Amino acid sequence: MPLVRHAHEKPIRLQLRRDLVRSVKRGHAWIYAEALRATPKTQPGVPAILLDNRGGREIGRGYYDPGGSIALRICTTQRGEQLNDVWAADRMLRAIALRETLFTGDTSAYRLFNGEGDGLPGLVCDRYANAAVLQLDGEAARRFWHAPGIAAWLAEKLALNLVVERLPGQPPKQVRPLLGSQPQAPIPFTEHGVRFMADLIHGQKTGFYLDQRENRLRMGAYAPGKTVLNVFGYTGGFSVYAGLAGAAHVTTVDSAQPALEVAQAHWNMNGLPEERHSTACADAFEFLKSASEAAKTWQVVILDPPSFAPNQASVPKALNAYQRLIALGASVTAEYGVLAASSCSSHVSLDQFTRACQEGISIARRQANALGIYTQPPDHPVPLAMPEFRYLKFIIMQLD
Ligand code: SAH
Repeated sequence: MPLVRHAHEKPIRLQLRRDLVRSVKRGHAWIYAEALRATPKTQPGVPAILLDNRGGREIGRGYYDPGGSIALRICTTQRGEQLNDVWAADRMLRAIALRETLFTGDTSAYRLFNGEGDGLPGLVCDRYANAAVLQLDGEAARRFWHAPGIAAWLAEKLALNLVVERLPGQPPKQVRPLLGSQPQAPIPFTEHGVRFMADLIHGQKTGFYLDQRENRLRMGAYAPGKTVLNVFGYTGGFSVYAGLAGAAHVTTVDSAQPALEVAQAHWNMNGLPEERHSTACADAFEFLKSASEAAKTWQVVILDPPSFAPNQASVPKALNAYQRLIALGASVTAEYGVLAASSCSSHVSLDQFTRACQEGISIARRQANALGIYTQPPDHPVPLAMPEFRYLKFIIMQLD
């Protein structure tokens, strides 16, 4: 089965209106519709050659989305390179080789393909032990990549027994089995030796927040003997790491009761004593407000909210919400305690988020030292020329 469709079709030619040659050559993979001279009507996902704005020289090849704001995703800047199965297999093998270097036996779940960051525009794949979840970003990506072929290729290379494709929409998302049958139960996996399960159908993302793996480990380092509050805890990732590191007690807060039930199951399946964990199903802001009014404090507080800024227009409102959240978090952090705050919105820059932290801490009338400022892990690589792809920010602070 093929890995890409249209490999034998003659690519269409698109010409730049603006001088973006340097940006493309540096590895920026997106060409917006307004940067092109013309956007001809044709099928989404067809191969295209990008020509410069002057003499019409070829500067890259990719696939085209006539209706999208990102009209072209560039797959190669090697002149004349065909976007065929040889090209795709080479990129996929390179991505797998990086993960084989990064992950030894104690981590069996990671992002295998991170789209543009692996030179595979629009193609995302997460691995959970012997299962994998494909996610294709948009109609053009779904028509360019051949999902069943990729599933068969992966199954052979990595000895997988289950590959599904997650289709767009809110959970419970549509899941299309590509190899093996529809998963009946969550898939067990380990992360730094910690045991978890991923629900490929009902879970958020592809089943787990793989992007916070290293930050969970980092927070564990502050937990021994401490009381820990994990806000927006989902299925308890940060909580279990803290528990295994020897936290005195961990509280997991989330507005979703089913997620909290899985958090408790994760806690138990790692052999941790029940009396050292409690869950609270509540709105995070309200929980923090009433804890603060009751003068309750924790020695380690983790804030990992969902994205507050789904688009550029919502950034000012989002920054305000981050500020309020961090102020509330600071007000329940004990003296010399550790507060960690995360933002997964690509529209909020690290600079803006750092300032929101400063503001929030100051509203709580505290001071903070940064202990570490982190971003996404190396199984979520990003083209250096595409800083907008580096969405994750994670700031660990010690408060006065
Ligand atoms: N820290 C988690 C991922 C958090 S995802 C991990 O490492 O796995 C964000 C979580 O916030 C989701 O589980 C969602 O249910 C929860 N959430 C969203 N809005 C909320 C709110 N207003 N109050 C409490 N939880 C909320």
